[in-house]
Amino acid sequence: MTDDDYRVSVYRPLLPPADAVAAYIRQSDAARFYANRGPLVCQLEARLSAAFGQDDAVRLTASGTAAIEAAILAQAGPARPEKPVALVPSYTFAATALAAERCGYRVVLTDIARETWCLEAEACPRGDEIGLVLPVAAYGRMPDLDAWSRFRADTGIPVVIDAAAATEALMDRPDLIRADLPLTLSFHATKTFSTGEGGAVVWSDADGLARIEQVSNFGFHYSRECKMAGLNAKMSDYHAAVGLAMLDDFPARRQAYAGIVARYRDAVRGLPGRLHLPPDLASVYVLWEAPDAASHDRVEAAMDDNRIETRRWYEAGLHVQPHFRSAARPDLPVTQDLSGRLLGLPMSHDLPAERIARIARVLAEAA
Ligand SMILES: *Cc1c(COP(=O)(O)O)cnc(C)c1O
Repeated sequence: MTDDDYRVSVYRPLLPPADAVAAYIRQSDAARFYANRGPLVCQLEARLSAAFGQDDAVRLTASGTAAIEAAILAQAGPARPEKPVALVPSYTFAATALAAERCGYRVVLTDIARETWCLEAEACPRGDEIGLVLPVAAYGRMPDLDAWSRFRADTGIPVVIDAAAATEALMDRPDLIRADLPLTLSFHATKTFSTGEGGAVVWSDADGLARIEQVSNFGFHYSRECKMAGLNAKMSDYHAAVGLAMLDDFPARRQAYAGIVARYRDAVRGLPGRLHLPPDLASVYVLWEAPDAASHDRVEAAMDDNRIETRRWYEAGLHVQPHFRSAARPDLPVTQDLSGRLLGLPMSHDLPAERIARIARVLAEAA
């Protein structure tokens, strides 16, 4: 992920400076407490809860994937023989489906809604064999959570929302946080808010949060006795130090992104297709929706020729990846169509204006 004078990366993370992180790590040294929900982890949980307009709704994890696994175990438990299936949208990052597999589920990949790019409750199959549904907030865009709450109440099927990229959405819309639907976040370096590696479960259910703590710590609860299925999903205090330092500066970071978004919007005015920008998406994503697959591929190749990196963030859907090929429902027309037309363009909070102009120029010529 390095830019030279000419090459443009699709994303260039910048985490807090080492000195800012060290100031927090000194607190861990003073307390001689580095893991198992140390003081920095508890501090970051409290500050994120407040940033989400909640008293106590956040449990930190070692990664976004670990957050999904912990939420599945706390909300649904491991797969049972009579309900072995987890429904997962094909249009997502591999972690969503892998987490369900790790909890013993047989993954069945489903299509998404054309407007929201998410698996929506109205279109979700409701068979007796379904033990879990894992809707994904694609690029940080939330599915209709009211509809998922009704689905959960009507069917009794447990639902966990993979909201990996939606940290900013939760800051802007605290009403998204619920007691019946645990949401999971990723704090990977390529996400807007980052601890390097890390994640969180966000859930306004005190009993649910207690179960997250238990499954994240080997199924232990006030003893060293394993009482339920679990894993080591805990975040270390070193990672929490990065998050605390990042949170100190986060309003300025979001403002910097907003400036880049305004430049992008001006630069592509009048070009064919459609540009999807934050805050509709998480700030790390700028997506060009091509009118058709041919122009998408043409622009992708032209960017590459001009040493501008692009990315199909969710590839062509999980259903064409070798490990998941047998898991797909027979046809996924929306996934097939959208994944061939949505192209991730370069983004970072300090993307120079000259590079945005170059990206827009190549787009205009090739489209
Ligand atoms: C980033 C991401 C994850 C994985 O998070 P990690 O922190 O890398 O484990 C899962 N799902 C989606 C949709 C993501 O974008």
